Amino acid sequence: MSDYLMQTYARQPVAFLRGEGAWLYDERGDKYLDALAGVAVNGLGHAHPRLARALCEQAARLIHTSNIYRIPLQEQLAERLCHLSGMERAFFCNSGAEANEAAIKIARLHGHNRGIENPAIVVMEKSFHGRTMATLSATGNRKVQAGFEPLVTGFVRVPFGDAEAVDKLAEYHKNIVAVLVEPYQGEGGVNIPEAGYLAKLRHICDRNGWLLMLDEVQTGIGRTGKWFAFQHTEIQPDVMSLAKGLGSGVPVGACLARGVAAETFVPGKHGSTFGGGPLACTAALTTLQVMDEDGLLAHADQLGAFIRADLSDRLQGHAGVRAIRGQGLMIGIELDRPCGDLVKMALAEKLLINVTNDTVVRLLPPLVMKREEAALLTEKLAELIRVFLG
Ligand SMILES: *Cc1c(COP(=O)(O)O)cnc(C)c1O
Repeated sequence: MSDYLMQTYARQPVAFLRGEGAWLYDERGDKYLDALAGVAVNGLGHAHPRLARALCEQAARLIHTSNIYRIPLQEQLAERLCHLSGMERAFFCNSGAEANEAAIKIARLHGHNRGIENPAIVVMEKSFHGRTMATLSATGNRKVQAGFEPLVTGFVRVPFGDAEAVDKLAEYHKNIVAVLVEPYQGEGGVNIPEAGYLAKLRHICDRNGWLLMLDEVQTGIGRTGKWFAFQHTEIQPDVMSLAKGLGSGVPVGACLARGVAAETFVPGKHGSTFGGGPLACTAALTTLQVMDEDGLLAHADQLGAFIRADLSDRLQGHAGVRAIRGQGLMIGIELDRPCGDLVKMALAEKLLINVTNDTVVRLLPPLVMKREEAALLTEKLAELIRVFLG
């Protein structure tokens, strides 16, 4: 471990030098099956030839010009994302936290425009929205916040999945301007709300003139088997944040909006030096194109169903397994005890997985993972969990 790096991460003692599809190769040339995809980033897997070619060609033409000038690739990407999502305008940035910062700023500005001087945003317990001051304040995890007080004010917290709790707020809290929620919580433990939850939130927002803002940083771009998780429902958000899978590893985030939310920012209200540059937009446009042409949404849906069903079969009757849940290739296996050690055990077996919220094994495989690879994953993982639970 380097003495020259700030000690922000408890890293695994392994470094990867190259990859191919769902596989990563370490310094010794050993190969690992990747069921994490850089935390829901590498949807196209590693070293995808079409992405590599598109990036090389773009790098040879132009990498950066700045938002002082028109950027045709940014305009193309905005149009494509709006077309896929039913949103109307896009702002581009470089990460999920930044995309949520843009959403938070839109909500506050929207409030001020309506004469609300102290606007508040409803957020959820166990949520994760990023590590900047505003987004960690919005996050529902004390570990993320501890030591960084004073937190940014203007967030009101309710339990995830509890639409009634949001409804009650409307009765006495007159400063609320928006609800910010992950359709399915990722870092919080792959939590899937009851069917109808988002529809209820949509209804509450409509009745009160609030913006419904979805954090699709993890769930977006095909991860759950649709382009965006809200597309499993009938509703449409007012604001949506994206990042992780959007650029297949090239940093790019986006905040999309429609209706009044799309008109809130005017020149001077927000900006980014790097956001929406030609290279990042090429990465995103190519990602969307490959996903479309290769049918990766349907594949993610089917492969995810297979992984969940196969794990259920293999772990059936095991008392230590509380639940196997997920949508598409966002999968959680909740155990009855803290299971961080499973990450190390899996690494020793050349399998890359993640544990979140202490007791939940999280799988976020690349969308290009093949059926045989998924079968190898379920076989290895079920065995590891059996050994771990003893
Ligand atoms: C990862 C994540 C973020 C933060 O994204 P960064 O790119 O790390 O800033 C925000 N929201 C959700 C739901 C995430 O999963």
